[in-house]
Amino acid sequence: MATNVYGFIGLGNMGAAMCSNLVKSGINIICYDIAGTAERAPRGAGIAGSILDVALASEFIFLSLPDGSIVTEVTKDIVKAKSRKCHTIIDLSTTGPETASKVGNNLSKENIIFIDAPVSGGKSGAVAATLALMCSGPDDSIEGLTEVFNVIAGNVIQVGQEPGQAQAMKLLNNFLSATAMAATSEATIFGLSHGLEMKTILSVLNVSSGRNTSTEDKFPKRILSGTFDAGFATALMSKDVSLYHDQVVKAKTPNDIGDVVSRLWRQTNSALPNSDFTEIYRYLSKS
Ligand code: NAD
Repeated sequence: MATNVYGFIGLGNMGAAMCSNLVKSGINIICYDIAGTAERAPRGAGIAGSILDVALASEFIFLSLPDGSIVTEVTKDIVKAKSRKCHTIIDLSTTGPETASKVGNNLSKENIIFIDAPVSGGKSGAVAATLALMCSGPDDSIEGLTEVFNVIAGNVIQVGQEPGQAQAMKLLNNFLSATAMAATSEATIFGLSHGLEMKTILSVLNVSSGRNTSTEDKFPKRILSGTFDAGFATALMSKDVSLYHDQVVKAKTPNDIGDVVSRLWRQTNSALPNSDFTEIYRYLSKS
């Protein structure tokens, strides 16, 4: 694994931390971010001047980009590098099943293997390398990448062979996470209105049946503390829940809660643009 060169495109909240862990493990990395690579690249990583440079230099390319349209454009740019080394692209972004499937089809025509590999666990999980990495793609390619995946993730689970299946898994996970965040905010505000303290509410919930990732992690660390710094934008959570909602409509599976939750996240994002997703608590507190 150390002899190959790995490209990394997208050095934001998640990408910078994952890329840093890859470099620390001794993997040869060349990275790029459109907003400025040198100031975001981890020490020890090669700095690329463009996506083309990454495609020419690396056999494998990781992507950690905001959304499906950007992933589509970046993969088109990689394909334009005719004498590229790149033969495998691993997409760690959340883009939804349709984008992953389309991108996978387009890349297979160019003899590039596409691994759909979204992650869960937030910026803190990316820093600590404890992420859950769910992946779908050809068995042999995933097997060959498992050692590298284990550098950035605490749990690596292959969920299928087709690009898009890991995205479906990621969307349903984030729908549950988004629902827990919104519902915990509402329930806490109700408790406060009865004179309970947030600390007390969380103490009881975390030893009771209402506990969830928000009561155990986001509320004590990011909301009770007043820092609102989970490192996941409301815009990205709203994107994920809207993608989930659209896919459920197409799948014709039950969507009552999906309707309400996706609308609420869109409203929060309109009211608090550029906010951290934990700030839904602030939004609901004022409404
Ligand atoms: P971010 O916005 O912090 O980072 C994205 C990075 O991509 C930015 O640095 C941006 O400059 C760069 N970028 C955008 N367009 C580019 C282009 N054309 N070429 C090169 N670089 C480009 O986002 P993030 O929070 O790191 O999330 C990245 C992905 O991971 C998203 O799809 C998100 O939904 C998903 N995700 C985020 C979290 C989280 O907690 N932040 C958790 C799991 C999954």
